[in-house]
Amino acid sequence: MSVSEKDKLFVWHPFTHQLTAKPAITIVKGEGVYFFEDKGNKYIDAISSWWVNLHGHCNPYISKKVSEQLLNLEHSIFSDFTHVPAVTLAERLLGHLPNNQSKIFYSDNGSTAVEVALKMTLQYWHNQKINKPLFIAFENAYHGDTFGGMSVGARNVFNNAFENSLFNVAHIPLPTKENIIELKNTIQLWSEQHEIAGFIFEPIVQGASGMLMYEAELLDEIIAICNQNNIITIADEVMTGFGRTGKFFANDHLKNKADIICLSKGLTGGYMPLGVTSCAQFIYDAFLSEDKTKTFFHGHSYTANPTACSAALASLDLLEKEETWQQIKMIEEQHLQFKKKIETNSKLKDVRVQGTIIAFELQTEEQTHYLNNASQTISDFFLQKGILLRPLGNIFYILPPYVITKEELSYIYASIEEFLK
Ligand SMILES: *Cc1c(COP(=O)(O)O)cnc(C)c1O
Repeated sequence: MSVSEKDKLFVWHPFTHQLTAKPAITIVKGEGVYFFEDKGNKYIDAISSWWVNLHGHCNPYISKKVSEQLLNLEHSIFSDFTHVPAVTLAERLLGHLPNNQSKIFYSDNGSTAVEVALKMTLQYWHNQKINKPLFIAFENAYHGDTFGGMSVGARNVFNNAFENSLFNVAHIPLPTKENIIELKNTIQLWSEQHEIAGFIFEPIVQGASGMLMYEAELLDEIIAICNQNNIITIADEVMTGFGRTGKFFANDHLKNKADIICLSKGLTGGYMPLGVTSCAQFIYDAFLSEDKTKTFFHGHSYTANPTACSAALASLDLLEKEETWQQIKMIEEQHLQFKKKIETNSKLKDVRVQGTIIAFELQTEEQTHYLNNASQTISDFFLQKGILLRPLGNIFYILPPYVITKEELSYIYASIEEFLK
């Protein structure tokens, strides 16, 4: 039996319609932007393996650092014990995060980073004997697949089955120049009428809902209103962190920084699962008490896994290099040039760019939607061109590892033009 036949027998894949799914492609090797299939084909990983990879697959430097760590300390409990990789990583991350951030709490993926942020926020108020149970979030938001993450996320096909078990959240539309005044008034009014604990958002780019982009200046205004009304702000930078939007963090596009920041995906350069929730000192201080019931009772078995931390440290070494930022800039410039070239194409409803991300919204008879049937047509076409894209319905995007070359980008753009013919 082939690997992919055995796969069909034994394995259940994420976000996959198992009944109609084609046999999974068996990847036997990764190198730079490429995946190599057992049958000899190679594919450009144009979406960085679900947005996690930064420096290419099997990056020699990160692989070496991780191997060294594995011979020293693979894992240890993280209560009462600590280790150099976790402490060094916390210190170095705080050097890059906005100045208001002062503590790093570790977990092991993006959803847990969000859960930690939500629980920190609720308990921040609880510890002060203030009753504030409600969250505000954006329509179309995606914050992960755990119950807290689903609750603050958009109500859609992803979580229909769980709707009755999700907690109530007030969803607001993304800010535009037209609705910003009304939005601010709404938040002001709600905060007078309801007990609002926090506001969670994907800063400037909403990933899973289709790489929707919005203005940093408008987000700044919303954060300001939250600050005035004692609403804790949580930036979910799980997708936008580590250069994706053209700056180190999407928060770097903002004047008003979030109180809590969630990181994962690119954190380890795409090597290993690791989550981080950072917070401002005043949040942490609300948990410092003689009263032991004010402890933050949250932790995962693999909290701050040293091997994952060593991958993150190695990835930071590369992110601190000038060459990496030249690459990020090059990708953005190429994306912008291609956008100019293609944006009048009648088959496209919209083309948008933010940093290393370019998204294309295809004009289809069906509405823009995750289950839009265009998705299969798009991925089949590009696979056959040796390009791995994973559309979100009729929206597809390039979100490449930073080591991609101009030539590889040109090849992807040319294939997109061919697809749109
Ligand atoms: C992917 C993602 C998550 C969830 O992260 P996982 O590691 O898949 O659990 C949360 N928030 C945002 C913005 C994401 O893009």
